[in-house]
Amino acid sequence: MAMDEQGVFAGKTAFVTGGASGIGRATALAFARAGASVVVADVSEQGAQETARLIEEIGGQALAVRCDVTRAEDVKAALDKTIETFGRLDAAFNNAGIEHRPMAAADISETDWDRITSVNLRGVFLCMKYEIPLMLKQGGGAIVNTSSGAGIKGFRGGAAYVASKHGVIGLTRSAALDYAAQNIRINAVCPGIIGTPMIERLIGSADAVREHLIAQEPVGRMGRPEEIANAVLWLCSDAASFVIGHAMVIDGGQTV
Ligand code: NAD
Repeated sequence: MAMDEQGVFAGKTAFVTGGASGIGRATALAFARAGASVVVADVSEQGAQETARLIEEIGGQALAVRCDVTRAEDVKAALDKTIETFGRLDAAFNNAGIEHRPMAAADISETDWDRITSVNLRGVFLCMKYEIPLMLKQGGGAIVNTSSGAGIKGFRGGAAYVASKHGVIGLTRSAALDYAAQNIRINAVCPGIIGTPMIERLIGSADAVREHLIAQEPVGRMGRPEEIANAVLWLCSDAASFVIGHAMVIDGGQTV
């Protein structure tokens, strides 16, 4: 089954954080192509509105919401708006995340540590904290959290990011067990090096960095955001009805 097949998510609502850019935008568009109404939540209001516009351009239904995932009141308000507008929440992709420039562990400032873990880990926790009660009320749902290859192995210079992404997998697995019997499936994706604005910021203008990154990918290229979106849609679909607490690696072989 092609996951962007029209109708797989017809009548359903998907909530996507970090939906203004990269993997989040591609996944929001994929949900819309598959028939879902999509809430695009992002700290960048303008970017979220642009994704919503792209969805409407292909005939989909979208709502853009400004939401900083580190703030409980923002997350709660965004989910309240989701229910107000579309009446339900079937799929949530908790994907907002930030990177940091390479730094040895002891050189990371406390401020940077708190900022990274706050968006990448606390943000996922807060989203689940307010999504799960809505899903329980309606009898079920599916959640996918964005981890990373950095969630399953260490990377030199990446201690804060790597710790936050390992944390996402622990959080996903434990929460998945908490709600497995209540028809809420919680899984994670671990993308490899995906060509998004985040990676472009890390590369900057250095061709050597680009080549170094591509050299880590046995397939000889970066992944495309749509290649992560396909996995997220599958994990949120009924085709994955027996998949619980899984951290799915989609990385062109990078961590094999
Ligand atoms: P991106 O920078 O293109 O997009 C991230 C989005 O998150 C942006 O729109 C940004 O505004 C939003 N965001 C940042 N902080 C936020 C906050 N506090 N609240 C709400 N939204 C916020 O990055 P991307 O590459 O699409 O990354 C998406 C996710 O995938 C991240 O969690 C990232 O860590 C993860 N990831 C990316 C790669 C990669 O190679 N690109 C690899 C592994 C994992």
